[in-house]
Amino acid sequence: MASSIKATVFKYYQPATLVVIFAFWSLLPADLASSGWTIVIAAICTKFMILGLEAVNERHAGWRLTRAEFLSDLFYFVIGYTVVRYAVRHGAEPPQFALKDWLGIHTPWLEHAPMIVQVALIMLLIEWGHYWLHRAMHNWHPLWLTHAPHHYVRQLNALKGAVGNPLELFLIGLSVVTLFDFSLTALFCAGHMLGTITSFSHANVRFNPPRWYTAVFTTIEAHSLHHSVEYEDTRCNYSCALILFDRLHGTFRAGEAIEVGQEGRRHMSIRETLVYPFMPVIDWVRGRVTPSPNPLP
Ligand SMILES: [Zn+2]
Ligand SMILES: [Zn+2]
Repeated sequence: MASSIKATVFKYYQPATLVVIFAFWSLLPADLASSGWTIVIAAICTKFMILGLEAVNERHAGWRLTRAEFLSDLFYFVIGYTVVRYAVRHGAEPPQFALKDWLGIHTPWLEHAPMIVQVALIMLLIEWGHYWLHRAMHNWHPLWLTHAPHHYVRQLNALKGAVGNPLELFLIGLSVVTLFDFSLTALFCAGHMLGTITSFSHANVRFNPPRWYTAVFTTIEAHSLHHSVEYEDTRCNYSCALILFDRLHGTFRAGEAIEVGQEGRRHMSIRETLVYPFMPVIDWVRGRVTPSPNPLP
C-alpha cells in the first residue's frame, strides 16, 4: 500500500509541481508577482525541495551528494544568482532592449494575452533558443570551450544544472524573449517553470512520470544520456527542459546513463572550470599547444 502511494506520488510529482507553480504566479498579488525577490526566493525554495527528494527516493547511490560535492555545487549556485545574474541584467539585457527599439518591435497586446498563452510562448521561445545554442556548443569548438565544464560533472543532482563556466551561464541568459512585451509575471512564471524542469532533469530522484510528460518535458533519463562519458554519446537530447525540440529535430535518443563525465570521468576543479574557455589563449601566450580531448570540428 505504502509503496503504491509512493509510486503514484513520484509519477505525478513533476507535472503537479508545474501546475502548482503556474497557480502560484497566477494567484499572487500584483506587487509580489512583479518583484524580483519573489522569483529568486521561490526558485531557491523549489530547488532545495527537489534536492530534499533525493534523500526520499534516490535514483543512484553513486550520485549521492557528499559534503565536498555540495559545497562545490553551492559555489556555482551562488555565482549564478549573483555575478551571472548581474552580468545578464546589466551587460546583456540593455543592448537587447536597444535592438528591440532599433527594430521597432512593439507588441503591447502580448501582455494582455491570457497568462497560460504568455507562459507557453515564453517557454517555447527560450527553449528553442537554448536548443540551438546548446547544439552549437557541441558542434563549434569556441562555444564548446564555454560549455565543456558542465560535462565534467561526475554525478547528477538538482544543483548540477548551475555547474559550469560563468561565460556559458551568461550565454544561456540571452534570449529573444527580450524583444517582446510579455508581462513580468508571465516571464517570472515561465522562468520558474523552466528552471524547475531543468532541476528535475538533473536530479538524483527516481521519478516514473507518465508517458505524455516524457514526450514533452526533459527527464533525468534523457538528460543523463546527454552527460554520457563518451563524447560522441553526448550529441543528443540538447533540450534541458522541453525534449519536444529534440524529437522535432531528430536529435532525441531514448535510454539512460549512470556513469557521467568526460575524459574517463576526470575531475575538473573549480579553478579549471573558471579558466577552461580561455585555455587556448593562455597556452598560446605561454607558447604551448594543448590538443583538444574531443573530436570536434
Ligand atoms: Zn551539453
Ligand atoms: Zn546538464
